This record gives sequence, structure tokens and C-alpha cells, in this order.
Amino acid sequence: MSAIDLYARARPGFEDRIAATVALLRQAAADHAGRIVQATSLGAEDMVLTDLIARFELPIAIATLQTGQLHAETLALIPAIEQRYGLPVEVYSPREETVVQFVRRHGEQEMYQSIDLRKNCCQIRKLEPLSRMLEGRSAWVTGLRREQSANRGGVPLREVEAGGRVKLNPLADWTWNDIWHYIASHDVPYNPLHDQFMPSIGCAPCTRAIAVGEEFRAGRWWWEDEKAKECGLHATRTNRHGANDEAVAA
Ligand code: SF4
Repeated sequence: MSAIDLYARARPGFEDRIAATVALLRQAAADHAGRIVQATSLGAEDMVLTDLIARFELPIAIATLQTGQLHAETLALIPAIEQRYGLPVEVYSPREETVVQFVRRHGEQEMYQSIDLRKNCCQIRKLEPLSRMLEGRSAWVTGLRREQSANRGGVPLREVEAGGRVKLNPLADWTWNDIWHYIASHDVPYNPLHDQFMPSIGCAPCTRAIAVGEEFRAGRWWWEDEKAKECGLHATRTNRHGANDEAVAA
């Protein structure tokens, strides 16, 4: 069975949620003209956002992080977006020399050795390229949803980060059923790994399929304690204020 067969369900208020999402994106595009970007993970949620940006011709740039560890199925979505929508996708990669030195020192499997090494890998392959993606931009758009995990239960539609940049999470109140109902209704391209029980897809070494009954993000960094699961792309408010070290990951 495909992810569409399993999850696509029409729920009350669906059209209203689409309208509210488009209104939020449209307003943000006007408020941050030329300085707003969708940071797409190329996951199902982000493909919905890209489709909305394209369909409603919203002037929001589209960008992704090419960590060097993504599945071929994920990478194939970059040309798929460009062909389907005629929109360019900005690709930000880690600095080659830094990666070479890190791998030479710690090997290719370092993420399994310790949480510190795993975080170092995320810093090099994700956070540093993200900082370049966001340079000169006053707002960014993510596909975070409250339903994705307990950590994300309080995700707001809009927040202002330390430093003043605005972060928009327009799908915060969408459900997994909504996401797949939208994908099915609009024939949105999506990662075929979602059909293999991978609801949340990141780098290949750090993603596995989940079993029946497991939580949405159980296939991410599954060898780590729940509290340690962060890569820093989406630090919580408490994290930013230094009150605890918990954060959520893309
Ligand atoms: S998710 Fe895994 S492979 Fe990707 S940057 Fe983080 S530790 Fe490295």
C-alpha cells in the first residue's frame, strides 16, 4: 500500500486550512519581499508547501540542504520540482574541505559512535549550510507540524527568532492525513521512501523505516535517547534561552 492509500483522508476544515496557509504565506511574502525562503527538507510536508508556493505564484525562494548523505530518492526531487513547477531550487552543501577532514578523522560511521560526533556531523553538513541559506534573509518557511512529535507540540504558526528573523510554520496545525489528502488531490510529487514506512526522512545513515505503532519520528537517530534527538535546525524557545538542551530536528 502506498502512503496515499494509508494516510490520505479528507478531514473537516481542510479547505479552510489551505486558505489560511496561503494567506499566511502571501502576507509573509509581502512583508519580506525578496528576503524569504522555504527551507525544504523535500519531505511530504515541504512538497505540499512548494506546491502551494508554485500554484499561488507566491514570491518565495525554494532552497534545500544537500548534506552529501541523502538518499537518491530524496535528491531526485530537486529536478522533479524544477521540471514540474519551473522554479529553481537553491542547493546548499557543506564545505568540502571540512567534510573531508571530519571523515578522515572520524570515519563515515561517526554518527553512531557518540552524540557529540553526531552533532558535529549535523553542524558541518546541515547547520553551517543553513546559515548560508538564511544569510540576508529576514524570514524562512518550514514544514514543521505540531503532530510530528511531543517536542513539536507547541510549534507556532509564526515566531521571531533571536536576531529578529521570522520563522513561519504554516502547516503547524495540519495533520498527516491532511498532508496526504493534499498530495493525492493535487498530484504532488513525493519521495517514494514514504511508501516504505519512512514518514520522516533525513540523511540515509540516520533514517530507518518505522514499525506499526512506533512514533512518527522513531526512525530518526533511533539509537539515541529521545532527549538527545536534535540537529539544531529547529531549536526550541527554551533551548535558545539556555534553559535546557532539548531541541528538535528537521
Ligand atoms: S543526520 Fe546523520 S548524516 Fe546527516 S548530518 Fe546529521 S549525523 Fe550527519
